[in-house]
Amino acid sequence: MTAEEILARKLSLARRFFEKYRHNLLKEPKITELLCAHGKAFAKAQEVTIETGAASFCARCGREGRSCCGADMELHCDDALLVANLLAGVDFPRKRLLPKACFFLGPAGCVLKVRPLICRNFICPELAAALGPEKVSSLQEALEEEARLLFWLTEEIKRWLIKGL
Ligand code: SF4
Ligand code: SF4
Repeated sequence: MTAEEILARKLSLARRFFEKYRHNLLKEPKITELLCAHGKAFAKAQEVTIETGAASFCARCGREGRSCCGADMELHCDDALLVANLLAGVDFPRKRLLPKACFFLGPAGCVLKVRPLICRNFICPELAAALGPEKVSSLQEALEEEARLLFWLTEEIKRWLIKGL
């Protein structure tokens, strides 16, 4: 099975589950609280990526075609993370938008609002060298809260997936 076929299957499962259970999920206070808290932590971490210069460094890397958001990276998105994105209002692309790139990478960056930890944590040696240790550690600190909430949000959704699929 190709990466494309695996992803198509995962997306179809996530959409089916979402259509069937979205009202129940959005009535669950724990899930709505975690979604909201994750959204805030994500926005805060994004601010730090802009303040430190990491966002512009990575955007330039992307424009030069060297981004780490490469093909097959989409397979790091598990079922719970895909459902979390649907709950957060993300409209998945119908097809890969950029050749040889991750399925979720669009011209303006990643389309996901809930992103895999591996994507959020990764700081390549070039970026680390450009930022310096102090900014790298601010970035890592800013991501801690998002990572914690990502874990609890996806764990909560997994409990529903086990019941519902
Ligand atoms: S982390 Fe490194 S490889 Fe990835 S987009 Fe940023 S600069 Fe490019
Ligand atoms: S950040 Fe988004 S676009 Fe980049 S590899 Fe991760 S999921 Fe794909």
